[in-house]
Amino acid sequence: MSVPRPLPAGFVEALLEQGVSHVSTDPVELAAVAVDRSGIVPEGPPGVLVRAAGVDDVQSALWLASEFEVPVVPRGGGSGVAGAAVAGPGSLVLDLSGLNRILEVDPVDQIAVVEPGVITAHLEAAAGRVGLRYAPDPASAAISTIGGNVATNAGGLRCVKYGVTRDAVLGLDVVLADGTLISTGRQTLKGVAGLDLTGLFVGSEGTLGVVVGATLRLRPLPLETLTVAAAYPDVESAARACAAVAAARREPSMLELLDARTLGVVDAVQGTSYAERGGALVIAQADGASAGSEIAAIAEVLGKEATWIEQGLDDASSARLVEARRLALPSIETLGSVLIEDICVPRSRLAEAFRRVAEIGDRHGVRIYSFAHAGDGNLHPLIGYEPGPVPDAVVAAGDDLFALALELGGTVSGEHGIGLLKREWLHREIGPEALSVHQSIKTALDPLGILNPGKGY
Ligand SMILES: Cc1cc2nc3c(=O)[nH]c(=O)nc-3n(C[C@H](O)[C@H](O)[C@H](O)COP(=O)(O)OP(=O)(O)OC[C@H]3O[C@@H](n4cnc5c(N)ncnc54)[C@H](O)[C@@H]3O)c2cc1C
Repeated sequence: MSVPRPLPAGFVEALLEQGVSHVSTDPVELAAVAVDRSGIVPEGPPGVLVRAAGVDDVQSALWLASEFEVPVVPRGGGSGVAGAAVAGPGSLVLDLSGLNRILEVDPVDQIAVVEPGVITAHLEAAAGRVGLRYAPDPASAAISTIGGNVATNAGGLRCVKYGVTRDAVLGLDVVLADGTLISTGRQTLKGVAGLDLTGLFVGSEGTLGVVVGATLRLRPLPLETLTVAAAYPDVESAARACAAVAAARREPSMLELLDARTLGVVDAVQGTSYAERGGALVIAQADGASAGSEIAAIAEVLGKEATWIEQGLDDASSARLVEARRLALPSIETLGSVLIEDICVPRSRLAEAFRRVAEIGDRHGVRIYSFAHAGDGNLHPLIGYEPGPVPDAVVAAGDDLFALALELGGTVSGEHGIGLLKREWLHREIGPEALSVHQSIKTALDPLGILNPGKGY
């Protein structure tokens, strides 16, 4: 994080003179935008908040931030869990959540044109009204923004079939560090003109530019979505079954796995009885015109080692089968604080990853609850601890999880991003040469280093 320093004299006045909307130095407002959901607390609140009401506010704020060399932390819903939106002393928080109009939803081109502050679930609802949907579905859809999703390249349950945010972004409007507005990409489904600047900004965590508009690909709403759930004696056999689904070249639209400890907590908190069915649970869905044959084929693969299996016959019974997954995080959070980890391994190494995650928990004497977007090899080991400072054993277990991901040929972040939390580990993952390319790109786009310094790479 940047070294604590006050705002330069005259900066707030310059923002006001420039006519920038909602410039605030109110301590209550500043405290509210200093943190995200990572639990990281900055050394002090940021210096000033701008709640942008238009693209011109963003351009003016960035131009002045460049002039005064003030660090800028773009902010959407503040739901990030890697500390990427944490803002410390001397910084300007640029809140994009007020730019929240859905400008166009086109049923023929199957695109949406939106402002960055649109809440993800609102876009999904708007697309649904014309028989389409925005496929990336982070569990935080009700509280995260499209701008934040783009900046973190967010994922979700449906990504196993439809890809992550990057696969849904066709073009972006971006304000660069000096206030210049550029458009990247296109509104067509195909297009190869120029370098892929859109892809460069996706996942850049606010370090290369501020997203002020996005053209997004929508997909037809599937006519049918069918579900199957299966229980296994242990988490390794469940993980093997998930890998077998991939090996059988099936195409689930969701493939999730929950371990015994997670099931136990869901049962204790919600009064359910999932743990009675086995030591791990797999929930799969298939959608679209071939959902019936696809789910039958997936059920056949999953059924081989299962101790229990059930197919949802209609929307209500399917929703019931998916409930354990939906309730996992909220149930675990009722027990105290959790460090939410997010590693991704090749699917062929999933069973080994689950076994070794449990060993890491035992070695450090910490409680790890594991669930996974198993279809993508993306594990979320959650390390529980008593409210208060993060204990050393939890930090050490987290480090071992990252080391494990790299050892298995995976990555230290499947979808949550690097932020403040994982910078050192990113460096280990990509190596010094690739890191230096990252830094050259940063310097080219943000020569003064004002955009979200200290985050990402
Ligand atoms: C309960 C819960 C469940 C979650 N589930 C998921 C999940 O399933 N999948 C997943 O991927 N994540 C998940 N997350 C993490 C988080 O919701 C995502 O990272 C989300 O994309 C962040 O969006 P946001 O609008 O809240 O961004 P913020 O937290 O405000 O910001 C995140 C990053 O984006 C940057 N940023 C925000 N807006 C812009 C912009 N317009 N231009 C440039 N940079 C910008 C910020 O500077 C920061 O670097 C979850 C979080 C919670 C609390």
